[in-house]
Amino acid sequence: MRYLSTRGEAPSLGFSDAVATGLAPDGGLYLPTSLPDFSNDLVRLARLNYPQLCLEFLSGFATDIPPATLRAIVEKSYTKFDQPEIAPLKKLGPDLYVLELFHGPTLAFKDFALQLLGNLYEHQCLTRGETINVLGATSGDTGAAAIHGLLGKPGTAIFILYPDGRVSPLQERQMTCTGASNVYALALDGTFDDAQAALKVIFSNGAFRRGHRLSAVNSINLARILAQCVYYLYAWLKLSPAERSSVEFIVPTGNFGNVFAGWLLQQMGVPIAGFKVATNQNDILCRFFETGEYRVGSVLPSLAPSMDIQVASNFERFLYYQAGRDPQRLRAMMEEIKNTGGVRLENWERGRFTASRCTDAEIPGIIQRVHREHGYIVDPHTACGFKALTPGRVSVVLATASPAKFPETIRAAIGVEPTAPALDALKHRPVIKHRLRADPAEIMRFIAQHAV
Ligand SMILES: *Cc1c(COP(=O)(O)O)cnc(C)c1O
Repeated sequence: MRYLSTRGEAPSLGFSDAVATGLAPDGGLYLPTSLPDFSNDLVRLARLNYPQLCLEFLSGFATDIPPATLRAIVEKSYTKFDQPEIAPLKKLGPDLYVLELFHGPTLAFKDFALQLLGNLYEHQCLTRGETINVLGATSGDTGAAAIHGLLGKPGTAIFILYPDGRVSPLQERQMTCTGASNVYALALDGTFDDAQAALKVIFSNGAFRRGHRLSAVNSINLARILAQCVYYLYAWLKLSPAERSSVEFIVPTGNFGNVFAGWLLQQMGVPIAGFKVATNQNDILCRFFETGEYRVGSVLPSLAPSMDIQVASNFERFLYYQAGRDPQRLRAMMEEIKNTGGVRLENWERGRFTASRCTDAEIPGIIQRVHREHGYIVDPHTACGFKALTPGRVSVVLATASPAKFPETIRAAIGVEPTAPALDALKHRPVIKHRLRADPAEIMRFIAQHAV
């Protein structure tokens, strides 16, 4: 299988190179040149456990990795989950399920992709005899999940920039209490925007980037999308035929990576009946699905911080399909967004998407209601998914984080503080972080001293 950039001005790559490259050199995102068709295979696939299903799914994409190696990579990627089912589908009511995606090492759904990505990087280092230095900026969940994907892996080091004092104490502990010698949590004096600006400067320095074999960790990596397709398939296969025909997957959404994975799976012959894009008060995508106009606004910090985005970086992949897979048309759209802050689509295909938004004022009430009606505690991101269930349809709400990651919000809503053993254990371990100014030169000096 080959992979092409949405912008059409970069050569096609094989799977491993597309994963290692991340963002295409023309600024676009990689997508497979064709999609497999699973429609005649669903009965057989329904008998597989999670790692088996993941392996079957990825075999058609990671065609440059020998099958036995791919099997080992996939199996290893799901050993650190604390539930044998990996992605348990829990029934809360006659037409209501939650798909719990928070049983990985950092208790958020990003572990599904970043555990796999860490093992793919390790494989690459081994086969090519190279080292790799991963660099990213985070406002919380992604940094922790990326660190836990690379923890202690030989031939790799990971540097995560974050704004000192502006990520939650638990998130900071997940990044700084690992005890691993290849992990560098860099607490910058500044905001998340300062961290991102510094990251941009560092990556734009080609000599430094190549010299240290720097790789970006961000939400646009092809492997992340593909890994996320698998849990939609797993959950869909667990439903009865009647449920399958009406099910709507409700997806707490920020960068559009998670829900795009579901949509891409649907294009592979899995007849998923609907998706709801559930945003918080940063509702650029909800507005798009209501009006056909994608218009960048400003970020309002919220109780569901991992969905606080201004530009949905993965939306470009969806726009590419809307542009009839014509890179020239896609480039025109991206140019318009860059120049005017938005784009309005004419004659676009809504497909099976609906959308909702949830303000901060609503989140505590929803956490209360779900707890009262179902005896179930949802985190503030997942709460956005519970805002409005469509009557008469089977709903599968994706639970993207454990409520234990947000104890203050939950306590304020229902008076109890959820806990998780993995998080409690962290409270007794030393915090190791490196305080730096949000200055690209200072960060580059640090990386040069510690890179592998
Ligand atoms: C990252 C994240 C999201 C948003 O996912 P996207 O793929 O960016 O749409 C939602 N919930 C949680 C808990 C997250 O960490």
